Amino acid sequence: MHLAILSRNANLYSTRRLIEAAEQQGHSVRVVDTLRCYMNVTTSKPSIHYRGEELENFDAIIPRIGASVTFYGTAVLRQFEMMGVYTLNESVAITRSRDKLRSLQLLSRKGIGLPITGFAHSPDDIPDLIRMVGGAPLVIKLLEGTQGIGVVLAETEKAAESVIQAFMGLKANIMVQEYIEEAGGADIRCFVIGDKVVAAMKRQASPGEFRSNLHRGGSAELIKITPQERATATRAAKAMGLNVCGVDLLRSNHGPVVMEVNSSPGLEGIEAATGKDIAGQIIEYIARHAGPNKNRTRGRG
Ligand code: ADP
Ligand code: MG
Repeated sequence: MHLAILSRNANLYSTRRLIEAAEQQGHSVRVVDTLRCYMNVTTSKPSIHYRGEELENFDAIIPRIGASVTFYGTAVLRQFEMMGVYTLNESVAITRSRDKLRSLQLLSRKGIGLPITGFAHSPDDIPDLIRMVGGAPLVIKLLEGTQGIGVVLAETEKAAESVIQAFMGLKANIMVQEYIEEAGGADIRCFVIGDKVVAAMKRQASPGEFRSNLHRGGSAELIKITPQERATATRAAKAMGLNVCGVDLLRSNHGPVVMEVNSSPGLEGIEAATGKDIAGQIIEYIARHAGPNKNRTRGRG
């Protein structure tokens, strides 16, 4: 196959590993800088141009679109889809995953376990919103935050009220969520490829911190997940329409709950914690599934 990785930086661990794995399996691979792709969206024959040439003949696209370039990145991906090129994750699924509220609504439709979560617009509704999600302590999140930035733990109702007021005053979109205290500052990253969890790791927040993000100083270790956790992760991936993703679970006393689904999951932490060749498994998945017009949406939506 002839593969393209849509990525801003060929030196990132995940990108390097995907290149290595593709070449090992006998495929040619090229890194294409997402922001240097440009296109004429009105022609009858959709195409993508790149530094003066036309990008043609790719059998599959591996999107590695960072949160900061979601809008442009998904537009480029949609154009590839319109050209009939197979994309590992489809643009519409990536767009869904970038909005935490929209994601939870999609997961809720499928009856997947979630932390109790509320959303409101008017400051007048804050006290009732807090009551609705079960009162303090609670977690307040920016809908489009990543790497733990924009996630706040409010220990008391007064603190919650003032933090929510502050975010609303800044016109930031936030959701309010039950704090899963019993998770003890740990979450579980399930790495899903197709309909399988191929690896799982537990991430533990550093002492005094409740956010387990590796970017916030969390540490990762191998963990054995339960059949219920496995089923929750694969159902979540399916509900989002993602072929490859990281599903983050919390162990709550009402069973596993999904916190978020990441459509560009990093490979470094999970390969280090599990010793597995995840990049290799991604390329194998593409080899089994890629083909002209094999995407579901083909640029719709
Ligand atoms: P981000 O997209 O910034 O990673 P998350 O929703 O994943 O945002 O939250 C970051 C971290 O905060 C999680 O990995 C988890 O450790 C902790 N956390 C988030 N929500 C909750 C919650 N409802 N209860 C307990 N811990 C939480
Ligand atoms: Mg997270």
